[in-house]
Amino acid sequence: AKARGRDSAVIFNGEMLMQVQHKLTLERDLGMAFDARELTMYLQLQIDQNGSAVGAELLMRWRRPDGTMVRPDLFIPAAESSGLIIPLGQWALIQACEIWLALERSGNLIHLSINVSPLQFRQQNFVDYVRTLLATTGVPPHYLIFEVTEGLFIDDIDQTISRMHDLAKLGIRFSVDDFGTGYSNLTYLAKMPLYELKIDKSFIRNIPNDPTSSAIVHSVVAMAGHLGLQVVAEGVESIEHVHFLAQHDQVIMQGFHFHRPAPLYNVITHLQGLDFA
Ligand code: C2E
Ligand code: CA
Ligand code: CA
Ligand code: CA
Repeated sequence: AKARGRDSAVIFNGEMLMQVQHKLTLERDLGMAFDARELTMYLQLQIDQNGSAVGAELLMRWRRPDGTMVRPDLFIPAAESSGLIIPLGQWALIQACEIWLALERSGNLIHLSINVSPLQFRQQNFVDYVRTLLATTGVPPHYLIFEVTEGLFIDDIDQTISRMHDLAKLGIRFSVDDFGTGYSNLTYLAKMPLYELKIDKSFIRNIPNDPTSSAIVHSVVAMAGHLGLQVVAEGVESIEHVHFLAQHDQVIMQGFHFHRPAPLYNVITHLQGLDFA
């Protein structure tokens, strides 16, 4: 029994070592990929209850030289642990401005939602960076929505709220991403300059059959209404989801049922002949 114990300890350590090596390799590859311009932004359209595209979320993609795509669920955590999320997040903001200008040139005035990592948000010069970028590009700030997760609200809540106000003064709007899955102190939420709540796809997935998810969706929509906030449902995959959400005029929908994340060029082409109604 003793010998087996030692063996399993060795296996355990070996696995841990492999995990560490995998992580380091991923972090190094990601850094090289960023330098080699293998990262790209996809867009996923957001559709209102009239069937009009009113916005798009920017979703990062890593296209390897062999053509394979690495999903952000895999590489964003590596970017965060290595610190690469800072230059990567700055690049994402520049992309957002360039994409907005390209959309404007093609006659499409829609807002763009950008995922902002807590690490990026907490950078000392984040507000200055955003201010300079807006001034340089001339993008009207109210077209940009920063999506933040409830994870941002755990530490340094007062500083977070004050920084959100600084950005809101510039004209930036805020959305609480994956709403309902994390820690949300409703008292703090009321103090934040919020524009939107984004209902997590784990709730949308189970409507209309699961009564709990259905009740949560109705409640979040009602609460958003009372607080004067926009509400977006993410992960809208089926006509059943669409029918359920049609009970609420104000809900904006995002999901594979309407549109899969795609490069800007495809999105512009798509918008020319668009009618989701
Ligand atoms: P998220 O912000 O919650 O983004 C929504 C995810 O749901 C996206 O995954 C999107 O492709 C996926 N999705 C959209 N419609 C549907 C649907 O109908 N059904 C299902 N099952 N999924 C749908 P994606 O693109 O793989 O991104 C994963 C996560 O990576 C994002 O989750 C976000 O947290 C992070 N991420 C993506 N881009 C960025 C970025 O530029 N910066 C940062 N910091 N994080 C990013
Ligand atoms: Ca998001
Ligand atoms: Ca989300
Ligand atoms: Ca998510």
